[in-house]
Amino acid sequence: MYYEEPVFRPPCEARSLIIQVTLGCPHNRCVFCAMYKMKKYRVRDVEDVKADLRQARLMHRHVESIFLADGNTIAMNSDKLADIISYARHLFPEAERVSSYGGARFLKGKPPEALRRLREAGLDIIYLGLESGDDEILAMMDKGVDSEGMIEAARRVKEAGIALSVYVLLGLGGEDLWRQHAENTARVLNAMRPDFIRPRTLALLPGMPLYEIAREGGFREAGGETIMRELQVMLGALEVENAWFLSDHISNYVPIYGHLPEDREQMLASIEMALENPREYLGPRHLTHL
Ligand code: SF4
Repeated sequence: MYYEEPVFRPPCEARSLIIQVTLGCPHNRCVFCAMYKMKKYRVRDVEDVKADLRQARLMHRHVESIFLADGNTIAMNSDKLADIISYARHLFPEAERVSSYGGARFLKGKPPEALRRLREAGLDIIYLGLESGDDEILAMMDKGVDSEGMIEAARRVKEAGIALSVYVLLGLGGEDLWRQHAENTARVLNAMRPDFIRPRTLALLPGMPLYEIAREGGFREAGGETIMRELQVMLGALEVENAWFLSDHISNYVPIYGHLPEDREQMLASIEMALENPREYLGPRHLTHL
């Protein structure tokens, strides 16, 4: 089977069969992201991907779920992707879920019938990186799409019947813009109506353009207390119905899980507890596995 390192997948896809349908990210400009900076975006040949799927069938008696990597598989031709998904579904009828990353920059231009074809082929969930709902921050981070584009992309995914999991990047406003980051992210999430909201926390690491910007004084990294305040404001302003809030990433200070809206108070209480006990909860993070 063909794998070109590094390979990334959401933490919740840890038990999935990972198939690289594309390589790298066609945007590859976000200044907080170092994931695919060493790769040039390519779409793999459909027949090569199908050969990988056949090989995986020979190797695995049971496949729980399938994740189609790399960073923005949704950007490729939808007919070809639907063909791959149908083939994967045919070979792995036991798989409970087929999923992929999908950037709003590419989703907002997809015709509704293209997304419906992907759904009919068997695509269950798209992981979309909102990161921030604040237009100033999105532009500063070179995300390639504004908050309206994020909302439009979400509308198209939801209308196609595909579940939407949205990543939010805590700390992306730094110490200076944290409040507008929190408020506008909640505003945009309310409009996107995701099925899952997954916060991660910014970790400045060498290889990220933002790391160099911060070293030169252009970005003040947010501390643990600011991150918690940001989360508190964001969660307090969320008005989503029937959404899971899952803080399931190793970069986060505190694991916070719940279903919205009914678990909001319990999650806010966990944030309050972390703020009252900073030495216990808001110390240095262990980021070696990022
Ligand atoms: S954050 Fe997503 S869209 Fe931005 S460069 Fe990284 S993989 Fe590409």
